[in-house]
Amino acid sequence: MLAATPVGAQRLAETGDTGEGGDRTLIIDALAEQLVFDELERLHDAGARFTVLSEERGTVDYGDDGVLVVVDPIDGSMNAKRGMGHYSLSIAVADGPTMADVFFGYVFDFGPGEEWRATRGGGAFLNDTPIIGPPHERRTADGRLELVAIESAHPRYLAQSSDALVEHVYRIRAMGSIAIALCQVAVTRVDGMATLWRARSVDAAAAQLIVREAGGLVAFPAFEHPLGAPLDLVPHSPVMAARTPDALRRLAALSTFQPV
Ligand SMILES: [Mg+2]
Repeated sequence: MLAATPVGAQRLAETGDTGEGGDRTLIIDALAEQLVFDELERLHDAGARFTVLSEERGTVDYGDDGVLVVVDPIDGSMNAKRGMGHYSLSIAVADGPTMADVFFGYVFDFGPGEEWRATRGGGAFLNDTPIIGPPHERRTADGRLELVAIESAHPRYLAQSSDALVEHVYRIRAMGSIAIALCQVAVTRVDGMATLWRARSVDAAAAQLIVREAGGLVAFPAFEHPLGAPLDLVPHSPVMAARTPDALRRLAALSTFQPV
């Protein structure tokens, strides 16, 4: 579908609707979601039972609310519509209501064509290669994290976080997809990842398992349990990921988000 929709007017076109997740829906968002639902309906016809939570359509019942399929048809729509670098399909499957209950995560990055996946207790994979023993995080001589991916990079949040960024981070990258930015932590292409504002579950559910199965640490700091964020369409909490507890603590200082 994306290959058949060249960058330009067709990629920029909006449906006129606002998705259940709150963003204005692009036609490519809606078409990508339809393709995912076509596959899910085939699985249902073959006997599978589950419930789907998807960015544009919201919750759709396929016969079992004990198996939740969390779909972001395109994470990084801003990049997709402009033909920039990274945008992804993100699918998570959970057997309970929170991030801790995700047992399968899948992220496909349409930029470099990278497939990331993980199963709970079964490890993480990049393009079918197990992620084993990724590099250690890198620090500057004074202890700052060398490279950190920042998402929800609204200029106001960046300004509010600027002192903490100077204190804890040497250089930042803003890739434009929460799912893809998280995946970079799984192989330590970045030393940490943080959103500066509340993220929605559809953006993070799959990639957070990929990071954890690759030995990384993930936290949703609005919740007492670091993985306690519910699998719904409400933006509850920032998400952050790193490879060490000290790095995660430094990233928590970046977010100006205050629990209400
Ligand atoms: Mg999306």
